[in-house]
Amino acid sequence: MTNDTWGQARETLQTTIGKNNFQTWIEPLTFVSCEGGVAEFGVQTSFQGDWVSRNFGDEILRQFEKLGAPVDRLKFSVHANRPARVAPSAPAPETFVSKPTRAAAFSDDTVIGAPLDKRFTFDRFVVGKPNELAHAAARRVAEGGPVSFNPLFLYGGVGLGKTHLMHAIAWELQTRSPELKVVYLSAEQFMYRFIQALRDKQMMDFKSLFRSVDVLMVDDVQFIAGKGSTQDEFFHTFNALIDQQKQIIISADRAPGEIDGLEERIRSRLQWGLVVDLHPTDYELRLGILQQKVEQYRAQYQELKITDGVLEFLAHRISNNVRVLEGALTRLFALASLVGREITLEMAQESLADILRQSDRKVTMDEIMRKTCDYYNVRMSDLLSPKRSRNIARPRQMAMWLAKLLTQRSYPEIGKRFGNRDHTTVIHAVRKIDELKAQDSQVAEDAELLRRMLEA
Ligand code: ADP
Ligand code: MG
Repeated sequence: MTNDTWGQARETLQTTIGKNNFQTWIEPLTFVSCEGGVAEFGVQTSFQGDWVSRNFGDEILRQFEKLGAPVDRLKFSVHANRPARVAPSAPAPETFVSKPTRAAAFSDDTVIGAPLDKRFTFDRFVVGKPNELAHAAARRVAEGGPVSFNPLFLYGGVGLGKTHLMHAIAWELQTRSPELKVVYLSAEQFMYRFIQALRDKQMMDFKSLFRSVDVLMVDDVQFIAGKGSTQDEFFHTFNALIDQQKQIIISADRAPGEIDGLEERIRSRLQWGLVVDLHPTDYELRLGILQQKVEQYRAQYQELKITDGVLEFLAHRISNNVRVLEGALTRLFALASLVGREITLEMAQESLADILRQSDRKVTMDEIMRKTCDYYNVRMSDLLSPKRSRNIARPRQMAMWLAKLLTQRSYPEIGKRFGNRDHTTVIHAVRKIDELKAQDSQVAEDAELLRRMLEA
């Protein structure tokens, strides 16, 4: 393989991984050599090598394969002659191969689980209000011992930490009780294994394999909704394990009752145990996560200077999804290692313009007020007026509740927008709706519908 092949691969990578990723991560790579099936690249920092390997390694290998280049491993070396201003304290050149070290879920015989991510441990999980219940439940299950709630059902929107918590449970259990057979896999992988077993006429093996585990974790179970025979098999495996008092942990992007196409018997079985949700992150949690990741970066890679206020700005402006938050931070790390000086707010804004723009598509107060008026069929002028009759006051309270839930606005800010009301009025409204939601199913339904319409 030559530099030319790499040139061709790069061309395609521009489209397969996107321009932004390409510019940040692939462009700065220098092709060094290709020998014995190992393609070597020079990188500026070990962080860069790590990141490329983890996120684009497979894709790069795929491109080489398409071009007929005999590459089965990638190696990233930190340039020996890097300019001194870039991280003088960085470790000696290191190498990274594209396949992450496979920490198999258990090491004996047949591996049916998916590998666990080394970074997804309890240590690295930042706890805040939105996820404290889910975290506590996960901790409890990870302690092992007698099974207290079965299954544990974790649900929540994308990027809120479901997979992270499941891996953390698996790591913890493995440390505490290495003799346990802990299996983690996605519902998709479950289906894949099932279909494979059907095809190879190895259903007996499949069944006994899954029935022999001590702890089974199935991630993103919404995936099997509507998939008839896979659901059946899942149900049987599930029942068999529950009957044997084996712990099961399930995740999904919604509550069991909201997953369309899920068989009724499975739905009700899933609700037997403990169902906890991860709420969208709030400002404090996002800031905590950013701070923790910066600390980790410093400990693992190099010193990093960030102007005060940059992390706060990101926590304010970037969406709920922690994955997006991490993406933004990673780009800042790359930037820092390339420019070698302090990251200012301006630099952050510029390099993250696209992410910030996307996150801007957040719900606005205006939308909340308009949609609420439409929904209850009241006039905007009434919503903002001092009128206190129930048919106006209730929609107003609902709109305030939604504003608190869906925007970053403070109580005083919300009060101001609603006809210059005092912040205590907003606090009262939020409490009122919370109370009513618990007592009055109509209010609960209104709240849920409005929330969904606004978030769509
Ligand atoms: P989900 O499975 O809910 O879509 P993940 O568990 O994959 O989300 O989380 C997305 C990313 O965000 C992961 O890199 C994870 O480590 C990180 N993350 C999510 N929540 C937290 C948290 N509370 N503390 C630290 N990192 C988090
Ligand atoms: Mg996940």
